[in-house]
Amino acid sequence: MTAHPGDWTQGEPVILRSRCATCSFAWYLDRQACPRCGGRDLVRDPCSGTGTVFASSTVHRRVASTGNRDHPIGIALVDLDEGIRVMGRCPPGTPPGQRVVAEFRLESGGSRSLVLGFQEVLP
Ligand SMILES: [Zn+2]
Repeated sequence: MTAHPGDWTQGEPVILRSRCATCSFAWYLDRQACPRCGGRDLVRDPCSGTGTVFASSTVHRRVASTGNRDHPIGIALVDLDEGIRVMGRCPPGTPPGQRVVAEFRLESGGSRSLVLGFQEVLP
């Protein structure tokens, strides 16, 4: 495994793709071995952040700080140009097929954490 300083889940504004040096299979989540061949010679590469929405949905939640008004949040599965699928926030109503680019936002709440989202880009 090639060392890399972490991804957005560790506070770095980057999406990492894991790739097997033996069979070239690529995936998103960090693992100790390749899910296809079991190989342990793995590489983690940074992704460009651009991709295409595979599917999306809008969830509604009530937020006490806004007087419990409805607060729609878009969630998308995005096929990145590097061949992996990731989940992140998007504008509500973002249609499948829409080209998007990743954005990282620091969410202040009980704990400060980085949130992965996507914004639409023009074709
Ligand atoms: Zn493999």
